[in-house]
Amino acid sequence: MTGETQPDQVPVFVPTIDEGTLRAVAEAFDVGWLGMGAATRSFEEAIARVLGCPPERVVATNTGTSALHIAVVLAGCGPGDEVIMPSFTFVADHQAVLATGATPVLCDIREDDLGLDPDRVAALITDQTKAIMPLHYAGIPCALEEIRSLAAEHQLRVIEDAAHAFGTELAGVPIGGDGDLVCFSFDPVKVITSIDGGAVVVADDEEAKRAQRLRLLGIDRDTELRYRNQRAWDYDVTEIGYRYHLNTISAAIGLSQIARLEEFLDARQRWCRMYNDLLADVRSISLPRTDFTDVSPFIYAIRVHDGQRETVQAALAERGIATGIHFVPAHRLTLLRDAPRGDLTVTEQVGDEILTLPLHASMSADTVARVCEVIRTELQG
Ligand SMILES: *Cc1c(COP(=O)(O)O)cnc(C)c1O
Repeated sequence: MTGETQPDQVPVFVPTIDEGTLRAVAEAFDVGWLGMGAATRSFEEAIARVLGCPPERVVATNTGTSALHIAVVLAGCGPGDEVIMPSFTFVADHQAVLATGATPVLCDIREDDLGLDPDRVAALITDQTKAIMPLHYAGIPCALEEIRSLAAEHQLRVIEDAAHAFGTELAGVPIGGDGDLVCFSFDPVKVITSIDGGAVVVADDEEAKRAQRLRLLGIDRDTELRYRNQRAWDYDVTEIGYRYHLNTISAAIGLSQIARLEEFLDARQRWCRMYNDLLADVRSISLPRTDFTDVSPFIYAIRVHDGQRETVQAALAERGIATGIHFVPAHRLTLLRDAPRGDLTVTEQVGDEILTLPLHASMSADTVARVCEVIRTELQG
């Protein structure tokens, strides 16, 4: 139904929405309950099955950003507290921290996986540090084990931005399966989508209850009833909360997508491996250092060296091939230009070189070959 509708144009992202999704939406409308409801609970259970964690720990939200905000609140962050995080991540992370009044402390990444550099993190820990917030860039796991031991040593929370990594496994355990606070996004371009949506996965049942209240305006006893398509009229509110819950229609779309996760991952891994193969001997670029086993690839991003990123981008654009940039480092944004930071040498370089190539479950081998050929010709003549 969707796909490369204009044969010559290759977008960066294409959602894979099918008849099953339309049916799921029609059925959800038939139930006559549109707000957070039984479908939301089913979506959380389906997420838990992918992660291999108890369903009680999964709290679905209306965006990935709201999941991140809830996680930062759960970590106890407020004014005067610091969160160590990459500059090289989506600004949603920095906004989630700023929303609590806490301070993002920008940290460098490693060349290897473009995730937080644990040695650099260690150097930034102060008495004000409350949490470390790593990103699994492009779906490739960061140095999670080292970050966890740093956090344990200094009694910090670990808030994983796993927006890119739904379905990724590390040492046989899905990202989010055994974490502290782990956040996912199901926005329109992610590997699976609920149009807009997200989830925060928490470490214990107590914290899950609090996350449910934070999600629903602080209301203490409505969640259980809404999971049965009912509402409480007699409730209490004891703390500040947000309007972050996930509606039935989005949940139904998410459920129809999660049913195809394996298929999406297989296809995306296949295209990423093909990119790695076809670009392996091209001069002036670096490729992701993974063979994509156990990786849920959200984007396929290369580095173009020697100041040639913009020329490669232009050459691709001329042939109808769109590219993206994930990310402009946050310290280059006006909002964060004065944010405290460590040395950002790798971030600076990667920020100038990173280039996202098209990747969709429904793309074709011909398209991948076409993209690679343009890059090869541009860089090697
Ligand atoms: C998509 C994304 C988010 C935010 O998710 P939304 O659902 O769009 O709010 C956060 N971090 C990263 C790295 C993302 O790619």
